[in-house]
Amino acid sequence: MNYNKKTVKDIDVKGKKVLLRCDFNVPQDKATGAITDDKRIRAALPTIQYLLDQGAAVIACSHLGKPVATFDSYVKKQAEKGKDPASITEEEWKKSLKKLSLAPVAVRLSELLGKDVIMAADVVGDDAKAKAAALQPGQIMLLENTRFEKGETKNDPALAKAMADMAEVYVSDAFGAVHRAHASTAGVADYLPAVSGFLIQKELEIIGGALANPKRPLVAILGGSKVSSKIGVINNLLEIADTIIIGGGMAYTFSAAQGGKVGDSLLEADWQDYANDMVKKAAEKGVKLLLPVDTVVANAFAADAESKVVKNGEIPDGWQGLDIGPETIKLYCDAVKDAGTVIWNGPMGVFEFPAFAKGTEAVAEALSQTSAITIIGGGDSAAAVQQLGYADKMTHISTGGGASLEFMEGKELPGVACLLDA
Ligand code: ADP
Ligand code: MG
Repeated sequence: MNYNKKTVKDIDVKGKKVLLRCDFNVPQDKATGAITDDKRIRAALPTIQYLLDQGAAVIACSHLGKPVATFDSYVKKQAEKGKDPASITEEEWKKSLKKLSLAPVAVRLSELLGKDVIMAADVVGDDAKAKAAALQPGQIMLLENTRFEKGETKNDPALAKAMADMAEVYVSDAFGAVHRAHASTAGVADYLPAVSGFLIQKELEIIGGALANPKRPLVAILGGSKVSSKIGVINNLLEIADTIIIGGGMAYTFSAAQGGKVGDSLLEADWQDYANDMVKKAAEKGVKLLLPVDTVVANAFAADAESKVVKNGEIPDGWQGLDIGPETIKLYCDAVKDAGTVIWNGPMGVFEFPAFAKGTEAVAEALSQTSAITIIGGGDSAAAVQQLGYADKMTHISTGGGASLEFMEGKELPGVACLLDA
């Protein structure tokens, strides 16, 4: 995939209507609907501010949650959950949509920008069209949740064209959604000159740079819960990394595959052959593959479980590995010391429990002390680094969970591929 894409700086937006795809998929309080974390809205500000300063009229859009776009499919979904279809009203469906309105995002965005954000009542309906037509340079409006349109997730060309018709330029800054080929993330680019905003530009520059032309040695740290969810990442990084470090729950499948005792640890028995293949492949390629030498085991999956350190492959029955051990920490921290680039995906243990966060924290600290380019991808890994207080010590924490994984898998990202090549 070509990571070298045109950005907002490569295109004239003065006096133009710009359709800006953002990732405003913010977490909300279930009961009140209040936005519980506005990080994604704040992350979009530099691109928005730039466009407004350049004299563009900004038509922002985003999805939020997973609304059911038609009454018929709403009835079907509820029936699947065991509800009597006859008892389901259109009112109830509309209420479910209202909960996923972007109106609260418009309010928060307006506070952050210190200027009015005009909220449209629909995506490509009469209200959106009228407001877009009247929008002046330096003004910003927000379309309703793009997933209120059933054509969004199907990448319906008619919807994409209707959105594009309101604008003259398309800017995508929703990195968290670029792995999806939807009307607002990819389809619109068929009808408008399409460029990236600053968020996507940074992701492409840093992650794309590390994958295509890394400063070596390139060390990949892979952890998290399952081997099966990281196959693509392991396969791809095996082709480009100099060292691969395995931690987290997936390490026990590697250990079991080598004949180790893993007790009650997370084990994907079906993936043992794959694990052995990976070890073999790494040896053939001359990639250094590091596996844990010791592990912190617990007598239950709980924050206050009893714990002790045992050698890798010697976990007694009734115990489960929840973190890498002190010897492994030393080994792994040493391995990143002289790295040129470190790509990290997947925590080293169950960091949500403070007693089992030591491995993840030690690795985060080691990264914070290297001069390497340090890149964190994956939703939980980003959360771990933030929670442990190392966020501002990393070169880059990806803003897209699923998107960053697919990026590291070397997959083509539809929302990036559709942008103009630089
Ligand atoms: P990411 O979202 O960064 O890609 P994953 O979703 O793959 O990461 O993995 C994160 C989860 O893995 C965390 O919730 C963590 O608790 C879990 N995990 C890490 N180590 C273990 C372990 N030894 N046993 C069970 N779960 C683990
Ligand atoms: Mg995850």
